[in-house]
Amino acid sequence: MSTLDEILKKIEQAKNIVILTHENPDGDAMGSSLALYQALVKMDKDVELIVPKYSRVFTCLPKIEEVKQEGSKSEYDLAIAVDTASIKQLDGWSKYFEDAKSRIVIDHHSSNAMFGDVNYVDMSSPACAQVMYVLFRYYEWEINHDVGTCLMAGIITDTGGFQYAGVSKETFEIASSLLVEGVDIAKIYKKLLSTNTRSSFELRKIALDRMEFLEDGKIAYTYINKKDEKKVKAETGDHEGIVNEGRNIEGVEVSIFLHEIDDGYKVSLRSNEYVNVSDVCLMFGGGGHFRAAGVTMQGTPKQIREKLVGEIKRQLK
Ligand code: AMP
Ligand code: MN
Ligand code: MN
Repeated sequence: MSTLDEILKKIEQAKNIVILTHENPDGDAMGSSLALYQALVKMDKDVELIVPKYSRVFTCLPKIEEVKQEGSKSEYDLAIAVDTASIKQLDGWSKYFEDAKSRIVIDHHSSNAMFGDVNYVDMSSPACAQVMYVLFRYYEWEINHDVGTCLMAGIITDTGGFQYAGVSKETFEIASSLLVEGVDIAKIYKKLLSTNTRSSFELRKIALDRMEFLEDGKIAYTYINKKDEKKVKAETGDHEGIVNEGRNIEGVEVSIFLHEIDDGYKVSLRSNEYVNVSDVCLMFGGGGHFRAAGVTMQGTPKQIREKLVGEIKRQLK
C-alpha cells in the first residue's frame, strides 16, 4: 500500500482526530493545518485543530475561529502533525501526539525526524501546503474557496512570495488552479507578507539598529530580547520576518536572528546561496531547510553568536 493510501486508511478508521503543528506557527503551519482540518470536518470526523498561540495576522484565514488552544480529550484515535520537523517542535502539546493511538506526519522539512507511525515527507516541496495540495488531489477532496485560501497562504508565506528555492512549475500550476477557483492571491500576499503591525515595525527598528556584520560582511547578526518586546508592546509573531532583513543585504550569505524566549533564545538562520543552515542548526539540536532553519539555544546573545559563527565559518567561501 502506498503511504498516501495508508494515511487515508488511518483517517477513515479514526473517529476522533487531532491536528497539530509547530510552535510559533508561520503561514504554512496555519494554512496547511486549517486546510486539512476542513477536509476532515467534511468527512464527518470529530476533529480538533490545536494551536496554543499564533500571530493575530492569521485571523484573516478561513475557519481560524475553530482553532482550539487546548484539546478536549486526553487520548485521540489519530494525531496528525503538519509542517513539523520533530516532536520537540510540538513544544508543550506533544502529549496529544505521543498519547494518540496512531500518528501521522505530513511535512516538507529535509531534517524531518520521521517521528510518526506513517510519515509523508516531500523534501522537494517548498511548502507543506503544497504537499497538502497533492494529498487533496490524490484523495479527490474538494478544494473550495476556503481550503484554497489556506493552501495558498501556506505556499505564499513559505516561498516568500514565490521567490525561494524549491518553487517549481508545479507551484505555479497549483497557484494558477487556485486562482481559477477564485482564491485572491494578491489579497493573501498583502495581508500575510507585506503588512506589518505597528509593534512589529517598532521591533524591526530596534533589530535593524543593532545589526552587526561579521566575517567580511558575509554574516549579518542581530537580536531582540524580552525588554525590547515589552517596550514596543509586542505580540506573538511580531518578530516574524526580521531575519530576512539581514539576508537581503548585498554580500550577506547568512543572516542570524535571535529572539528571546522563556528558556533561552530562538535562533533563526537564513542563507542566500551555498551555506546549509539546516546543518548548522542540526549541530545544536535544531533543523529546518537548506536555506531556512532554526534552533533554541541557551546563553547570552554574544555566546550564542560565537557558537553559530564558529559553525557557519566552516562553510563560508
Ligand atoms: P524559523 O527561523 O523559526 O522561521 O524556522 C525556519 C525553518 O526551520 C522553518 O521551516 C522551521 O519549521 C524550521 N525549524 C525551526 N526551528 C526548528 C527546530 N528546532 N527543529 C527543526 N526545524 C526547525
Ligand atoms: Mn513552518
Ligand atoms: Mn513549511
